[in-house]
Amino acid sequence: MIRLDKITKIYDAKVENKKALDEVSLTIDNGEFVAIMGPSGSGKSTLLNIIGCMDSVTDGSYYVDDIEVSRLNKLDIHRFRKKNIGFVFQHFALMDYYTAYENIELPLLANNIRRKDRKINEQLKKLNIVEEKDKLPKKMSGGQQQRVAIARALVTNADIILADEPTGALDQSTGQEVINILREINNQ
Ligand code: ADP
Ligand code: MG
Repeated sequence: MIRLDKITKIYDAKVENKKALDEVSLTIDNGEFVAIMGPSGSGKSTLLNIIGCMDSVTDGSYYVDDIEVSRLNKLDIHRFRKKNIGFVFQHFALMDYYTAYENIELPLLANNIRRKDRKINEQLKKLNIVEEKDKLPKKMSGGQQQRVAIARALVTNADIILADEPTGALDQSTGQEVINILREINNQ
């Protein structure tokens, strides 16, 4: 499903020729649940941002199924990302002045998807945050905020869910819960 072929990433060749990624190759099959591990600064976020189409490669090819994503133009990458990628961040990245419901609604609006209400309620139930529906992020615990963020990543039915240290801002047991949720979703 995902294939990286000798991906190299250099952020700024002028400053220094330091490679954030140096010919990284990786294949991930449909249905796989994969963790990328390594010390701080080793390029994990860079790799996820490339897979998530939030950043471009300096060299190498990135394919999803038969599409060479690394060759798409900006507009097509934008479309591809909206449709196929769900992203979960360490610090949740929710909109502060939007309720849980409205945060989950955003990608549906961006994708012009119908029957929004049914889809959002489905996610609220699935992630056990029905009671948080009308709350702002600051009124929720970290674990609840991350569940809203996961709901937002899932609601468009994206094939690829990426999570960059999704438990990094949570205590250990809440973090374990988030991992269990992601595993469960992957199994489904
Ligand atoms: P990790 O997520 O594993 O901690 P990163 O992908 O964030 O690693 O960083 C890999 C390397 O790329 C580091 O040396 C980091 O300083 C550098 N880097 C990351 N983001 C940028 C950026 N936007 N501009 C310049 N250098 C960056
Ligand atoms: Mg990182």
